[in-house]
Amino acid sequence: MTKVFFRDDDVGELTGPLRTVVEILTAEGVPCSYQVVPSFLTEEAARWIGGVRAEHPDLVFLNQHGFRHEQTIGGEHRYSEFDGGRPYEEQKRDIEEGRVVLRDMLGEHFDAHLFTPPCHKYDDTTVSILGELGFRVLSAGVKVDAISRVYYGLGRALGRVSLLGKRVSYHGQATPIAGVCEVSVCIDVDEDVDAAGEKIEKSCDDLWAEFERCRAALPVVGVMLHHQKCEGARPETLREFIERLKADPDVEFASLDAIAEQAA
Ligand SMILES: [Zn+2]
Repeated sequence: MTKVFFRDDDVGELTGPLRTVVEILTAEGVPCSYQVVPSFLTEEAARWIGGVRAEHPDLVFLNQHGFRHEQTIGGEHRYSEFDGGRPYEEQKRDIEEGRVVLRDMLGEHFDAHLFTPPCHKYDDTTVSILGELGFRVLSAGVKVDAISRVYYGLGRALGRVSLLGKRVSYHGQATPIAGVCEVSVCIDVDEDVDAAGEKIEKSCDDLWAEFERCRAALPVVGVMLHHQKCEGARPETLREFIERLKADPDVEFASLDAIAEQAA
């Protein structure tokens, strides 16, 4: 049996594509953890998504996705926020401030124990701070190719969360820092540029082939969405992919939360 969870990133403004993704997932009965960027969140979106959460408490989960989703390193703008060796105090201030914003705006609908670092970038300091602030789960990315698996194995044996400048994934288990667990995504539905920089558009068959590769290696497969890209043919592709997952007797949908509880 493969457990599948969905995560949708970069929630901020109330847009047509956000409504589309939330409507597809709730209509299909698929739980999803929505990662909200504190500095992007508008009052209108907070009210709307809080209302959907109240209606579907078993399908909609709202968590923290960084604070600003950007930083400048050596004069260069980046969309990541917690890499590049930022000092402890700075990282802690941003994570705490972001959490205060989401608590104020989302109230009881905000689930403050899961954190998704923007661009899946973080360091040891970030994970220690998460543990100190009471976050129990970190969600990032996990790769299943042979080289990555060897590399993760080596990093884990050394008790590192990063090695030679790359992340070591502990997907499905506790990291060696502060008891924080990691539950990460393996499939990026809306990836639109390949490793060679060519434009791509994943079909349902492409997503299924990726799913088969992930499930051969992992008991828990996370699917990442970026709702702002869910336009054109993509809503239909997403629906088709979900139907195909549902039709597989060896697939069980679960929330990231429920999976994290088991990993803890
Ligand atoms: Zn993001």
